[in-house]
Amino acid sequence: MSDEHASFREQLAYLLERSPFYREKLAGHDTRGGLDSIARLPLTDKQEVKATCTPDNPFGAHLCVGRGEIVRIYSTSGTTGTPTYIPLTADDLENWVTGSARSYAASGIGPGETVVTTYNAGPFVAGAALDAFGRIGVTHVPVGTGSSERLLLAIEQLRPDAVVLTPSYAAYLLELADLRGSSVRRVLVAGEPGGGEQAFRAKLEDGWGARVTEAMGIGDIGPSLWGECEQQAGMHLGAHGFVHAELIDPETGAARAWEDGATGELVLTHLRHRAAPLLRFRTRDHVQVWTSPCACGRTTPRVRCLGRTDDMLIVRGVNVFPSAVREVVSGFEPAVSGNILVKPRGQGVKQEPPLPVAVELARDGDADPELAAAIRGRLREVLVVQTDVELVPFGSLQRSEYKSRLVSR
Ligand SMILES: [Zn+2]
Repeated sequence: MSDEHASFREQLAYLLERSPFYREKLAGHDTRGGLDSIARLPLTDKQEVKATCTPDNPFGAHLCVGRGEIVRIYSTSGTTGTPTYIPLTADDLENWVTGSARSYAASGIGPGETVVTTYNAGPFVAGAALDAFGRIGVTHVPVGTGSSERLLLAIEQLRPDAVVLTPSYAAYLLELADLRGSSVRRVLVAGEPGGGEQAFRAKLEDGWGARVTEAMGIGDIGPSLWGECEQQAGMHLGAHGFVHAELIDPETGAARAWEDGATGELVLTHLRHRAAPLLRFRTRDHVQVWTSPCACGRTTPRVRCLGRTDDMLIVRGVNVFPSAVREVVSGFEPAVSGNILVKPRGQGVKQEPPLPVAVELARDGDADPELAAAIRGRLREVLVVQTDVELVPFGSLQRSEYKSRLVSR
């Protein structure tokens, strides 16, 4: 902890010296404290940083280094249409790979094993996580996205011990092939919520005949910052020493105690970043956290993602995450395929009930009104939300080799 404290003090001094964005933002704030008083400092919103981008500086005013020090530039997809650019120095990249390697190694993979990955080298930060597999020392087979046939062939012919992909893609592949008898014993999922949800995880574990563990990062801060161990009790902070995690009330922004079972929005602070460090960055990830030591022996904090605040809808005062809707609907397999699409009628977050939800039937499934009623009943019982469930034919909702879209307006 004292190392983290020293890193934080150094990072803060660096921001005040090098970051025009934070020099302005922190003016008038007491910056003498350490990590224990970090909640006194202002939060950083993605939009706020984005607003400082100019034709001369497409990164934003939080850029602290010259172009010559930047060794790589990733981007995030960006909901507004234009991407956010994420520059890295050589040290930043090195730290990202170290943190990612710890996160993925927590799953139990190690030297002597063969791992097939499906991430592309760019444009997203997941590309940097590819280097983590070399660091761990496994035999790495990077397949990328674009061809499920190539991926399935690699699984059949190279007999990997593990695959790395998004939970949506892991589910989609089960529609294409029977993988229960494959060599794969570990499925490492990341990129979106789902891998830690009980019913969804059970479906993947059953279909793959493998253990499913998840990892999570956020573009602006780093890839695979968190990784789950074989206990499947939440993701450990693999990026410890590089990133500090906090919890806040998503409505008021007030700090919440990081204690077993607490929930809230995850806020992250870079501790040793150089190119474009962020302080108290709002991730928009709604998480549950644990601080007690894990049965695996690791003492690092753990999180489970409950959903993205950006995807969250409020139906008559109740927060509804589309991934939670999918989790409940998964309980109706094999009658349904497990694919869903939430289709809010109104603009914005607040919605009037009933919330329309398209639920895809299993292959050759019948649009039985009693099934729709049962799903509606379960959603009301578990999520306290009134829905209008429409059963749609198998194959009518979009599949993805990367992240799946669960909301359509
Ligand atoms: Zn553990």
